[in-house]
Amino acid sequence: MEESAFSRFKSRLQSDLETLKREERFYTPNLLSSAQGPRIIMQGRSYVNLCSNNYLGLAQDPAVIAAAHEALDQFGFGLGAGRVVCSMTLHQQLEERLAAFKGREAALVCQTGYDTNLAVLSTLAGEGDVVISDAMNHASIIDGCRLSHAERRTYPHADLEALEACLRETQSARTRFIVTDGVFSMDGDLAPVPAMVALAEQYQALLYVDDAHGDGVLGKTGRGILEHFELEGQAALEIGTLSKALGGVGGFVASDREVTQTLYQRSRTFIFSTGHLPPMVAAGLIAALDVIQREPERLERLWENTGKLRSGLQDLGFDTGASVTPIVPVIVGEAANAMALGRELRKEGIYVQAFTYPVVPKDKARVRCMVSAAHSPEDVEEALRAFAATGQKLRLI
Ligand code: PMP
Repeated sequence: MEESAFSRFKSRLQSDLETLKREERFYTPNLLSSAQGPRIIMQGRSYVNLCSNNYLGLAQDPAVIAAAHEALDQFGFGLGAGRVVCSMTLHQQLEERLAAFKGREAALVCQTGYDTNLAVLSTLAGEGDVVISDAMNHASIIDGCRLSHAERRTYPHADLEALEACLRETQSARTRFIVTDGVFSMDGDLAPVPAMVALAEQYQALLYVDDAHGDGVLGKTGRGILEHFELEGQAALEIGTLSKALGGVGGFVASDREVTQTLYQRSRTFIFSTGHLPPMVAAGLIAALDVIQREPERLERLWENTGKLRSGLQDLGFDTGASVTPIVPVIVGEAANAMALGRELRKEGIYVQAFTYPVVPKDKARVRCMVSAAHSPEDVEEALRAFAATGQKLRLI
């Protein structure tokens, strides 16, 4: 009997899955069975967790959890309707708090950071516009640019001359958007924001900064990369996630009112999805913003731990690349070395993730570490001891 269309289709998928396995790019589920924290239990074993974006330890904070419980009891579990039909008072409060946190006129909360980039770029960049994007930008920016009807230009990572050339060549466009991650998530380096602000001004372009890894982390009070550079309010559009330092889930755009109102009226991902932040998440995030303001010592601990981990790794002889943030890559070159280092570290009780091509360049495979305010000095020391032992065993240092 002739093979069915579905059988042929599944064979094609199976062959792709086999390729991923052969190339050691096949994800298997890693199942957490404990609270999220600096130490976790996965598949029955305890680890020091260096894989979480929960930079300030807010995901497990008692005040955040209590606020979420209260909202769950008061408002119920889900939403029942999309936000255009029925937004909750909690959504409005959260948006006001985020706008104030970022020092902007208004903020709009979307389902995730990923969705926010899709919503903003696909809605605001259209025919006659140009989006000019750093080659290392996050996948959600790339997809947002693809969904827009704007012309797309890409410049090599952080290459200001190439960016300027793009700006020079596109002067007849209606609106130019210079789109960049604030912190680049694979290297932990920063976009050259001061020069980008100047270029945007000179060429009358709009700067669009996705501060997913900067909010709660960078700047004197954790307000992100623009605070870090003392350039608050100097980007036209600021994107953030609520899933990393803020410890919850969701994304947002902070800007002027015309921007957030247009998105509310026109964004397809915003309007046509019932799935928005559940009330308990919105309430937990408001409480998280309170904790950030009430407990500045968390930010201090985050940077102490970052310095200790990064300088410790460098002293051992590891290459931490251009990292200047709590994202600390350990770059080992070949994919097989990164995979082996990841495996050995996990055997030693350190939970890390290896990244290989195409996520990072072929000769820059790595293990990526992320440290948090919740780690104790002993957690960081334990991780460094394991790096020393596995680095020597695998002859990487
Ligand atoms: N932008 C950047 C720069 C990111 O690193 C990420 C998350 N990896 C996102 C957007 C997506 O945010 P979220 O995880 O909230 O969907």
